[in-house]
Amino acid sequence: MTQPLCQSILANVSHHLSDSQKIEIIAKHFELIMETLGLDLEDESLRETPFRIAKMYVKEIFSGLDPSTKPHITLFENKNGYSEMLVEKDIIFNSYCEHHFVPFFGKAHVAYYPHKRIVGLSKLNRIVQYLAKKPQVQERLTVEIGNVIERELQTDDVAVVLEGKHLCIASRGVEDVNSVTRTSYFNGKFAEREIRNEFLKQLDTK
Ligand SMILES: [Zn+2]
Repeated sequence: MTQPLCQSILANVSHHLSDSQKIEIIAKHFELIMETLGLDLEDESLRETPFRIAKMYVKEIFSGLDPSTKPHITLFENKNGYSEMLVEKDIIFNSYCEHHFVPFFGKAHVAYYPHKRIVGLSKLNRIVQYLAKKPQVQERLTVEIGNVIERELQTDDVAVVLEGKHLCIASRGVEDVNSVTRTSYFNGKFAEREIRNEFLKQLDTK
């Protein structure tokens, strides 16, 4: 095991490591985990697993830890003066529970009231996906989506609802495969009960 790369040093240097350096270090550590569990790393099927996992962590499921992957948001002038609630629902997200490092996934529904500027709709999906691609808890993911949309769209009138299935609940512990976790974030106009209910009603009409 690479002894000098203990956690505290690693925490400080991780920002300066290249992707391939990160993959190499993670693969070494995962190899040790597998060896400790008594798995045979000579086995053809397992041999490449540490590298596969390391690559998947860095390049895919935790790629949101790299700020350079943040989506670039372009805004357009709200030329038509659209001023009603805009709802983008059923945005698929895939994230990882930071407590157990197993997936949680589901749907995000976001809404906002446009002011002077509007956003390309696919950017809302990209914001959700970017923030999901790191070790997360659903509560924080919900608030982060709300905050980023507020900042990027320059409005406080933002609502977010997340419905997530957690494999740490479904496949271990209480092993409840049916439960869904719903979290929400309401700001600006959405703090008003009537407006919030209008948004929630839209989510129920499939
Ligand atoms: Zn968990």
